[in-house]
Amino acid sequence: MNFSVNNVKEWLKKTNNLIQENKNYLTKLDQAIGDGDHGINMARGFDEAVNVTDDKQYDTVADILKDIAMTVMSKVGGASGPLYGTAFLRLSLSLKGKTEVGYADLTKALEDGLNGMKQRGRSDAGEKTLVDVWEPVVTFMKKKDAADADGLMEIAKSAVEKTKDIMATKGRGAYFKEKSVGNIDPGAMSSFYLFSALAEVLKGGGE
Ligand code: ADP
Ligand code: MG
Repeated sequence: MNFSVNNVKEWLKKTNNLIQENKNYLTKLDQAIGDGDHGINMARGFDEAVNVTDDKQYDTVADILKDIAMTVMSKVGGASGPLYGTAFLRLSLSLKGKTEVGYADLTKALEDGLNGMKQRGRSDAGEKTLVDVWEPVVTFMKKKDAADADGLMEIAKSAVEKTKDIMATKGRGAYFKEKSVGNIDPGAMSSFYLFSALAEVLKGGGE
């Protein structure tokens, strides 16, 4: 597998399509345990990330990921903007200097992204945040030697569902204490869109 610049573009566009289609749903989830802006935040930032990168030529995967990171960081806003921005920046740093990105490289980059978000958010798994989707996905990918798109999709789907049962201890959800139980975390849901888009790209086998 070689995860190419075009694969990153495809990943970003598929993610953005899912976010635009589910913008109101993300808003609804964030109205229940937050301030209701997650759909608007993500839709604005990812639309802009597609606009900035789509027609531009990039020599390396690290270069386009850096552009995505900067755009997401400045345009998404809220708590999630800096978190997703950090994740993409770490992905970029992890893949810097590579002309070919294999499955193991991509997995390591996503692990670096996850660790970056944990540091930035001072958060860990089990706190009802996007970390609760990223962590099981990365753990699953590390167990495999090659891309398993269907498995990845399943893991991400069950992880997002499981956030319902968790009481939030980070982010705005934490203000809702016990009342946060029973609702899916909005950031976990948007991360599900990111990973189901990635699974779709991996299904194509990379370039
Ligand atoms: P805000 O909470 O500032 O309105 P958003 O609504 O865009 O920002 O994003 C909310 C999501 O961000 C949450 O659902 C959660 O997944 C994630 N989040 C918030 N704070 C943290 C944190 N400290 N660590 C990890 N993720 C967090
Ligand atoms: Mg919000």
